Amino acid sequence: MNNNIPLFGSKQAEGNVILKKLNQESVEPELAYRLIKDQLIDEGDARQNMATFCQTYMEPEATKLMSETFEKNAIDKSEYPSTAEIEESCVNIIADLWNAPDEDKKIGTSTVGSSEACMLGGMAMKFRWREEARKRGVDVINQKPNLVISSGYQVCWEKFCVYWDIEMRTVPMDEQHMSINIDKVMDYVDDYTIGIVGILGITYTGKYDDIKALDAKVEAYNQQTGRELGIHVDGASGAMFAPFVFPDLEWDFRLKNVVSINTSGHKYGLVYPGIGWIVWRDRKYLPEELIFNVSYLGGSMPTMAINFSRSASQILGQYYNFYRFGFDGYKEIHLRTQKVAMKVAQAVEDTDLFEIYNNGANIPIVCYKLKENPDIAWNLYDLADRLQMKGWQVPAYPLPEDLDEVVIQRFVCRGDFGMNMADALIRDLNASITELNKANVSMHANEGPHTQGFTH
Ligand SMILES: *Cc1c(COP(=O)(O)O)cnc(C)c1O
Repeated sequence: MNNNIPLFGSKQAEGNVILKKLNQESVEPELAYRLIKDQLIDEGDARQNMATFCQTYMEPEATKLMSETFEKNAIDKSEYPSTAEIEESCVNIIADLWNAPDEDKKIGTSTVGSSEACMLGGMAMKFRWREEARKRGVDVINQKPNLVISSGYQVCWEKFCVYWDIEMRTVPMDEQHMSINIDKVMDYVDDYTIGIVGILGITYTGKYDDIKALDAKVEAYNQQTGRELGIHVDGASGAMFAPFVFPDLEWDFRLKNVVSINTSGHKYGLVYPGIGWIVWRDRKYLPEELIFNVSYLGGSMPTMAINFSRSASQILGQYYNFYRFGFDGYKEIHLRTQKVAMKVAQAVEDTDLFEIYNNGANIPIVCYKLKENPDIAWNLYDLADRLQMKGWQVPAYPLPEDLDEVVIQRFVCRGDFGMNMADALIRDLNASITELNKANVSMHANEGPHTQGFTH
C-alpha cells in the first residue's frame, strides 16, 4: 500500500468485504484488520447483551495468556505435556468442587462446551445401559432406549437423542413445578431408560431441578428393581455457581446416584466461549469403548472428547481464572452478581406490571411475565424492541410444552454486569415502560407466542 494514502482513501476500502470467492490479490494487514473489524460494528455491545449466559469479559492478563497460546493443540499431549497437566488440574479442581468421593477413581475431560459434554455423558449412559440390559435379558435390538428429562431441557439433549436414536421422554413442567416434577418423573422410567437428566439451572427459568429428591426416587427404584439407573446433572449454568454460593445444597456427587456432571466453563466458569467440562464420579461409569489413547511423554494418555484438534487457549483461560480467583474470588464475584440480579428483579417487581419467575437468587437471572392488565396495550416483544433501542438485548420467548402460552422475558446477569450497569438498565427499563404506556401502537399485538432474540 502506498503509505501516503489514508486507509479510508485507499481503493480496497471501496470493495465489499464480504466475499463470494477469494480475491485474486492480497490486501495489506492493516487494511484487512480495519475493514473486517468495521464489518462487525453494528453487532452491538456484547456487555449489554442480557440474553446470553456466555462470558463477555475476561481480565487483560487472561486475554493475553489466551492470545499467546492459540497455537497449542489441546489433543497433542506429547508436544504440550504441561498444558495437558494443567487440563488435568482443572478436572481435579472441578471434581473437588463437585465433591467427587474418590480422587483416584473419578475421570473427566475438557470439551468445547456443555453440548459436547452432554453428548459424552449421554453416550456413557447409553453404553452402560446396553451392557446392563443385555445381562437382564432386555431386548436391546428392537426397542429404542429412552432418556428422561424435564421439558425445560436445552436443545443439546434433543440433538443427543436424534444423533443416537434415543427416545426423549420429557416430563412436562407446570406452574407449580417450573423444574422437573418429582412426583411424576418415575412414571416415565422403564427397562429401556438409559438414565435421567437433572438440570441445575433450567435454561428457560433458571430453576434448579431438585436433584436430592430425584436421587431418593432413583435409589428406591434401584432397590426395587436391582438396576443401576443413574442421574446425569446438566449443570451448564449452575454447576459453577452453586458450589460457591450454596455449598450446603446437595445436588452433586454427594448424592449416590449422580454418576456424571457437566458444566460450561464459558458460563459461570467465567471464560470466553469455547470450553466445557464433564466429570464421572468413577471410571466404571464411562465404558471402555469410549476411551481412546493418545501418546503422551513416551507413554499414552486416555482421552474421551469427541473433537480432536482444538486450541488449548480456553483451557489455559480456565486455569488462569482458577489460579487467579481462588475459591474466595469466585465466591465474591458470584455473590456480587447475585446481588445485582436481585436488585434488577426488585426493580421489575416494583413496576407492579410483572410476575417474577426467578428473582436472581439461585442463578443470577431474572425472569418474568406480564400480568393480566386491561390498561396495558403492549407486550414483552414491544418492551424488548424498546430496550434494544437503548442498546440492551433482551429476549422474549414462550415457555416449553404445556406452558407455551406463557411468554416470558429474561435478563441474564454475568460477572461483568456491575451495579452501575444494572442501574442504567433499570433506568432504561422504566423509561421504556413510560414510552410504551404513552404510545398507542403495539408493534407485536397480533403475534402469538414466539421466540424473539437468542435465548440460550
Ligand atoms: C447453555 C446450556 C447448554 C449448552 O451449553 P453450551 O456450553 O453452550 O454448549 C446445555 N444445557 C443447559 C442447561 C444450558 O444452559
